Amino acid sequence: MNEDIFLKVDNYISNLLAPEDKALTDTIKSLEEEDMPRISVSANHGKFLQVLMMSCNAKRVLELGTLAGYSTIWQARALPENGKLISLEVDPRYAEVARKNVENAGLSHKVDIRVGKALDLLPILIAENEEPFDFIFIDADKPPYKEYFDYALKLSRPGTLIVCDNVVREAKILDPHSTDERVRGVQRLNESLQGNKNVTATILQTVGVKEHDGMVIAVVNR
Ligand code: SAM
Repeated sequence: MNEDIFLKVDNYISNLLAPEDKALTDTIKSLEEEDMPRISVSANHGKFLQVLMMSCNAKRVLELGTLAGYSTIWQARALPENGKLISLEVDPRYAEVARKNVENAGLSHKVDIRVGKALDLLPILIAENEEPFDFIFIDADKPPYKEYFDYALKLSRPGTLIVCDNVVREAKILDPHSTDERVRGVQRLNESLQGNKNVTATILQTVGVKEHDGMVIAVVNR
């Protein structure tokens, strides 16, 4: 199949149901202006995160991997006024850009961007007795995805939705001999879900403006 058709349909859907306003297009522009990687979720995926959040009435959200705050803004917009989103970002420069973008979107009162390695910050959230999160979006570096998921479970309650992006990687996950650490990281997570009695999980393939990829969608069992 001509892949151009996925792009056209993705654009059709986002024009119809996930149009970007100035705060979102400014956030995408900031990636170029600040020489940051252009690896944010697509507009459609931002809207998809909102739909998932609203389906579980999410008031408390945890995000791993902020970049310029594009997915942060989509998610924060689906929170009620008293909702809270904590986003973890290893790069202090990216975190600063994201804070400005979140402020520009009028969402600073809901968003707390914390700087550091997620594997260092997650145990701190646990030690601080953070209330369980309703929705967790894992979108940071791929090698420790399984460890991130295990921490996410510790910060969850029955019914929490956990979404992990980029777990198909243009079908590279089909190669059991892959030497790519990112592929190996997501393979470890994907395979661990098979026997994980704590969650009901699946993987949704995604195509469109981004390359062929996929997302884990897992709900914590009652
Ligand atoms: N969620 C963002 C969006 O859609 O707008 C995109 C996130 S980007 C794919 C991954 C981000 O994770 C980068 O900003 C990167 O600096 C950050 N990151 C990489 N390693 C990390 C780590 N160990 N802890 C926290 N963040 C990390």
